[in-house]
Amino acid sequence: MSNFPTDIEIAQNATLVHIKDIAAKIGVSNDDLEYYGKYKAKLPFHLQNENPQGKLILVTAMSPTKFGEGKTTMTIGLVDGLNSIGKKAIAVLREPSLGPVFGLKGGATGGGYSQVIPMEDINLHFTGDFSAIEKANNLLSAIIDNNLQNPKHSLNLDPKSIAWKRVMDMNDRALRQIIIGVGGKANGTMREDGFNITPASEVMAILCLSKDLEDLKIRLGNIFIGKTFDGKAIFARDLKVVGAMAVLLKEAIKPNLVQTLEGNPAILHGGPFASIAQGTNSIIATKTGLSLSDFVVTEAGFGADLGAEKFFHIKCGQSNLKPNAVVIVATIRAIKLHSGLGENELKTTNVLAINKGFCNLEKHIENIQKFGINPVVCINSFPEDTEDEYNEVKKLCLTKGVHAVTNTSFVDGGIGSVELAQKVLDEIDNTQNKFKPLYNYSDSIEQKIKTIASEIYGADSVEFSTKSRTQLKMINELGFNEFSICMAKTPASFSDNEKLIGRPTHFTVTVREFEIASGARFIIPLLGDVMRMPGLPAVPNSERIDIDNNGKIIGLS
Ligand code: ADP
Ligand code: MG
Repeated sequence: MSNFPTDIEIAQNATLVHIKDIAAKIGVSNDDLEYYGKYKAKLPFHLQNENPQGKLILVTAMSPTKFGEGKTTMTIGLVDGLNSIGKKAIAVLREPSLGPVFGLKGGATGGGYSQVIPMEDINLHFTGDFSAIEKANNLLSAIIDNNLQNPKHSLNLDPKSIAWKRVMDMNDRALRQIIIGVGGKANGTMREDGFNITPASEVMAILCLSKDLEDLKIRLGNIFIGKTFDGKAIFARDLKVVGAMAVLLKEAIKPNLVQTLEGNPAILHGGPFASIAQGTNSIIATKTGLSLSDFVVTEAGFGADLGAEKFFHIKCGQSNLKPNAVVIVATIRAIKLHSGLGENELKTTNVLAINKGFCNLEKHIENIQKFGINPVVCINSFPEDTEDEYNEVKKLCLTKGVHAVTNTSFVDGGIGSVELAQKVLDEIDNTQNKFKPLYNYSDSIEQKIKTIASEIYGADSVEFSTKSRTQLKMINELGFNEFSICMAKTPASFSDNEKLIGRPTHFTVTVREFEIASGARFIIPLLGDVMRMPGLPAVPNSERIDIDNNGKIIGLS
């Protein structure tokens, strides 16, 4: 594969179709498009039905290596595969964050011959949604600090109780904990603050979970800020900032239409990470896709212990969406990693290691089955893999009652996903959908966390730090006990310790602290040492990225 073109080379050589022609394929007229150039357009709300008839296919994965096992690539491949056999299918995905683009993982537009384009635009600012979300979040921060500054209008907020943080779409660990208001009275009230990355902003979560503008405003108003000196809870609505925040989001709340390399429609909207946020695109985008086509293929981030669990409990729980099929992406390299092999041993044929590392994939399969759905395993094919290794995975999957198929969409585009498409269609046609969540919203917060930890992670118990216990008491007092849970946890392990690979047993997870997202209607337990503002690696991707005098970009991946 040494001569195989890079993702950006393939994307730059593609012939883009005018976005009005892509829209026409799904019955969307020119009048309904809000153009951002020739190849990107926003879609209006009225295209969305409340109870759309399309079938929803969720793409998730086993616990990934740090490079990602190809969910986005397989999602796009599957959409092109379904269209190539005459089915009407749309990819509905998240928008990329600049954090990974300049950090380690790279962009989020797929790879090889399964990409969405224009790749550079989508990975860099796109239609400005992330900026709008960041601005709305930081407007609220500015208003909070202005309220502290201004005794006449003061709500009497205790600065030490303020839970709201600023956000920026960059991996910048130095901003995790900061002191603001330094330099005397004119420069604001001195207090501790911190930055999360934009994909972890509650405004992002709210935008992705809102039904419409009205719902968006109600949720923005419900954002918990902190408490007054006499213990009264203060919400964003008390600061009279909801209208202004909603105005900043008026375009960002509309889904974006682009195309795959094979000229099929893709809707990209919202971009919460799955490790530290709810990990999937907006409900509006998913419902729009389901209203405009027979099949939507969508992705939830990282492994199924994070993305899929939250997809089922948060996204499906807060809408009337139900998945009709689930695809678990696996790779030979990730299975080998979970057998205990080192990073430099993953390219050598090793059937025994497949047998040993299968335990990780096996647990993800069992977890999806607990939700009442029998998944299909998609083995994303890499050049160093061998048939013997594939056969071993297929054989082991069959012992769990699950079909595994190899997928060559990275190299072959949609044709490489035809077998997967057939298997997914069979699963939808032949099995009864018995989807059910694992917890009830009425369970206590503690119980919901325990259910996820024991059922999904396989943990023996959950420990709560002293800080988290105090916060839990406050969460209950505020009446937030019926919210869903949005775990923040490493994606590398089922546990909160990234070194526990494979299928760990006899372990405890620790809730270090909580963040509250009352507008999004979930509570975020922070497990282990996970951070909601990532850092950059020692050698970041940004070192390879450049642009020449003709505007040609290199190094994006
Ligand atoms: P995920 O969505 O699971 O994080 P992606 O689809 O973004 O994964 O893929 C992660 C990276 O791996 C991308 O840079 C992509 O180009 C690359 N990749 C995916 N599939 C393959 C493959 N079969 N062969 C080589 N590289 C691949
Ligand atoms: Mg992805």
